[in-house]
Amino acid sequence: MQHEIKALGTDSASQPLKVLGIHRRALRADDIAMDILYCGICHSDLHQIKNDFGATTYPVVPGHEIVGRVTAVGAEVKQFKVGDYAAVGCIVDSCGECPACSRDLQQFCEVGTTLSFGTPDPISGGMTYGGFSQTYVCREKYTLKMPNFSDMAAAAPLLCAGITVYSPLKHWQAGAGKVVGILGIGGLGHVAIKIARAMGAHVVVFTTSQQKVDDAKRLGAHEAVLSTNNDQMAAFAGRVDIMIDTVSAKHNINQFLNILAIDGTLVLVGIPPEPLEIGAFNVVKGRRSFSGSNIGGIRETQEMLEFCAEHGITADIELINADQINQAFERLEKGDVKYRFVVDMKTLSA
Ligand code: NAP
Ligand code: ZN
Repeated sequence: MQHEIKALGTDSASQPLKVLGIHRRALRADDIAMDILYCGICHSDLHQIKNDFGATTYPVVPGHEIVGRVTAVGAEVKQFKVGDYAAVGCIVDSCGECPACSRDLQQFCEVGTTLSFGTPDPISGGMTYGGFSQTYVCREKYTLKMPNFSDMAAAAPLLCAGITVYSPLKHWQAGAGKVVGILGIGGLGHVAIKIARAMGAHVVVFTTSQQKVDDAKRLGAHEAVLSTNNDQMAAFAGRVDIMIDTVSAKHNINQFLNILAIDGTLVLVGIPPEPLEIGAFNVVKGRRSFSGSNIGGIRETQEMLEFCAEHGITADIELINADQINQAFERLEKGDVKYRFVVDMKTLSA
């Protein structure tokens, strides 16, 4: 039997989030059910609430950096038991058979990836509702095991921010001898600094904020550049092998393509709603590449969690109560967060 739970969502782009009643499906044989403990606030949640991409279906309940505790398991579930920590990121289902799914790239499923929030729900009908809610029900195959992090709230942002930067850093072979630039130091960017450093790369931060230049070394960067300062930018000309671009709004990408090394790559992970213009000479010169990356598959997400646990990597978070969520979204919009909000979802029940 479906059951009704509380969630935080909104009916339109112009209204604040409020408490809504939503339904979770009855447990199936391969499902696990969890009480949600923590859910991080990603800029993609803000894009979705504001309908930045013109594709939001309301009411929307965002949230896709979910850590919970298992409360029930279906008859066929083998890897989880009641009481375990468990996590859900962006992906909760896919066809499992197409060429992308066969390569564990469920984010590119050719039939259609079911996201934890705001996509059609092939099992229950309607749209999926995300992690700003009391419970989640997910197929075991798409549920992540949480390694032994000392702070589970600070580990929650790894479920989206972590995998979104780990996957391209690995794909483009960040490591010893490589200079990795991290562009935009928000939720994704600050985790990218830590992961790139742990992979052995020389890490350079590019930020519009002097405060973040000052904070960059504490986060693990070797060097930091105020990107609005032309002299500081010029000092890096031809040096950056991999630039991870996490900027959420339209920006001058040519400035950053231009400082790539020969054969260097700029990987877009940020999703500015407007198109970006690229000057041809900024890529033909230096045989440079402009590329992109989208979250990561389930197997790679589990690998990333193990990597972060092993290297003691979590996010720097501000833990808030459910009734502070609208204030948090307003602050995220202004760039006023160091560096990720995480909602203590137990406070929604109180
Ligand atoms: P965030 O915490 O808001 O950080 C974004 C950062 O971008 C800001 O801290 C700021 O960095 C910089 N920035 C923002 N506006 C800017 C502007 N107008 N000009 C220059 N820099 C600007 O956001 P997030 O949660 O890290 O997410 C970042 C982006 O990644 C969003 O678009 C989100 O939707 C997207 N995303 C993509 C994926 C994927 O799979 N591809 C997954 C998750 C999120 P400084 O203050 O350092 O300049
Ligand atoms: Zn996200």
